[in-house]
Amino acid sequence: MADSAGIRALAAWNIPPEELASCFVEFRPYLGECLYSNCLHVDEEGCAIRQAVDDDVINNRRYTSYVRIVSGEER
Ligand SMILES: [Zn+2]
Repeated sequence: MADSAGIRALAAWNIPPEELASCFVEFRPYLGECLYSNCLHVDEEGCAIRQAVDDDVINNRRYTSYVRIVSGEER
């Protein structure tokens, strides 16, 4: 599991968003489950990752880190 230093490193490496999600191990079981196959799990409808966050299966702070990186706020 990537710690926050690891997450910053991922951001620095410029990993494409669709690969970034799979760097979060707890996201992996849900990655094929979203309504859209190109889902970035930020504000898409029918997103399985966001559902898992709502259900408290995925840690909200981890999800927030992911969103920050995907949206470029941590570069
Ligand atoms: Zn999604």
